[in-house]
Amino acid sequence: MNGVLSGKRGLIMGVANERSIAWGIAKAMSEAGAELAFTYQGEAFGKRLQPLAASVGSDFMVDVDVTDEASLDAAFAALGDRWPTIDFVVHAIAFSDKAELTGRFVNTSRDNFKTSLEISCYSFIDVARRAYPMMKDSGGTLLTLTYGGSNRVTPNYNVMGVAKAALESATRYLANDLGPDGIRVNAISPGPMKTLAGAAIGGARKTYKHTDQNAPLRSNATLEAVGGTAVYLASEAGAYTTGEIIRVDGGFHVLGMPQPEHL
Ligand code: NAD
Repeated sequence: MNGVLSGKRGLIMGVANERSIAWGIAKAMSEAGAELAFTYQGEAFGKRLQPLAASVGSDFMVDVDVTDEASLDAAFAALGDRWPTIDFVVHAIAFSDKAELTGRFVNTSRDNFKTSLEISCYSFIDVARRAYPMMKDSGGTLLTLTYGGSNRVTPNYNVMGVAKAALESATRYLANDLGPDGIRVNAISPGPMKTLAGAAIGGARKTYKHTDQNAPLRSNATLEAVGGTAVYLASEAGAYTTGEIIRVDGGFHVLGMPQPEHL
């Protein structure tokens, strides 16, 4: 897909390391010709991001904690100083207390419910509100990351399932709100991937193996596959897709039961 994003500029939020889904997307978008800016959460992640950003020709990195309005204000002010307009934002951010990503959902605490929904869903709305004025004249694309645990029960995913359901709904509401400005809003829904956030979910290895063995394509999604989908959505090829949840899960979501050899 060389060159399909030539001349486009975008912000990537959520690279923690080279296994991050946001990094898979950043690489694919850079290979497709896009110029990138990054946010990271705190100094330690900043150190990891620096060489990765440099490898795609970016020196634009801003520290953002999405629970801190001031850090978001500062990031978008810095972005506006550097680039008057942007073409896309990738929001690949989620969090829940690991202690509640295992065991019974009924034990979800009020505090962790609020934190999980704030970081994993509200932050996308907050980011969209700040980003869309920079996209208004040129159209643009907002992308977030979700998971099939939003509408089908996945053991241990618990409150993150509720947060992802809210995020998917927010994707549709934002798509409707921003559509008249020519801005498209979509979510990519990969199957389980071996990342920091993925590892925090109870039984992650079993979930990964189960999808790998049972998905119609008999494998898990790769960073390249998710990156390719993001490139499509941000490019002219995706120009009439909005409010959509696009699965990149090897077809796992179509199954009603495991393959006979794994029953
Ligand atoms: P990751 O750990 O590499 O990325 C998660 C990112 O969220 C990190 O960069 C972290 O710094 C950031 N983050 C968390 N709290 C934050 C805060 N308060 N402020 C700013 N940033 C914050 O893991 P990942 O799997 O690449 O996750 C990216 C997205 O993909 C998440 O939305 C996740 O739910 C989603 N997703 C992951 C999988 C999977 O199996 N790994 C599957 C489907 C969807």
